[in-house]
Amino acid sequence: MEHKARKRFGQNFLHDAGIIQEIVANLQLQSRDHCVEIGPGLGALTFAMLPYLQHLDVIEIDRDLVQVLQDANQANKLTIYSADVLKFDFNQLQAKPLRIVGNLPYNISTPLIFHLFDFIASIQDMHFMLQLEVVERMAAEPDTEHYGRLSVMVQYYCDVIPLLIVPASAFTPAPKVTSAVVRLVPKTAMQIERAHDEKLFSQLVRTAFNQRRKMLRNTLKGLATVEQLEAVGIDPHARAETIRVEQYVKLTNSL
Ligand code: SAM
Repeated sequence: MEHKARKRFGQNFLHDAGIIQEIVANLQLQSRDHCVEIGPGLGALTFAMLPYLQHLDVIEIDRDLVQVLQDANQANKLTIYSADVLKFDFNQLQAKPLRIVGNLPYNISTPLIFHLFDFIASIQDMHFMLQLEVVERMAAEPDTEHYGRLSVMVQYYCDVIPLLIVPASAFTPAPKVTSAVVRLVPKTAMQIERAHDEKLFSQLVRTAFNQRRKMLRNTLKGLATVEQLEAVGIDPHARAETIRVEQYVKLTNSL
């Protein structure tokens, strides 16, 4: 059956065999890994991963594609969840830890990554194809152009390792932008001080970056006083984009 790519589901299918192999090589799959692929589509990554695995879970929203995958699932190595990943409860998957993989629909990539943070304790690692610009934002250091809320939140939960850049020509239809594959590895308790209240941490970071060019003493008014900022070594005249992840955590824990 010929499948017409659906824009509303962010469908850009990988067709470049070299890139597909490179992604799979980067995964270093072990046969007993519990891998979960988000948005398998027509199976470009799925069927390249499957020979290395005993089993693979996939989550796909498009019912037509679910049917295509079901028809191709002769050896029953796939468990296909016909679902919206943004509403998917990853706790229902039994064997832990999970290895999450996906050439993500770009329109939902940021909310999806935030959704996955709710299950971070069950995740071994994540490999995602994203817009290059999103990977740059995830990996950005303070005081640089791309540093923002996404950088702080992702770096709080994970080490961010950009792996490869993928040209638009590797997809059908070709997207308008260049893509990149990134590895996210959840941080251990040894690596970073945890926020005692992660909701408050998230609220603080969001508020700080809402007006990223303003002084924190103004943007965080109502959340933190000048004295509280100074007590954790944050200059009240500084702007959100100059503050390191650890400083946001320290501030949260002092409130
Ligand atoms: N993995 C395939 C590939 O690399 O060729 C397809 C990638 S395509 C960029 C994104 C896939 O995610 C599509 O199959 C799309 O239908 C699916 N998708 C989009 N939104 C989704 C959602 N909310 N939940 C689950 N899958 C979704």
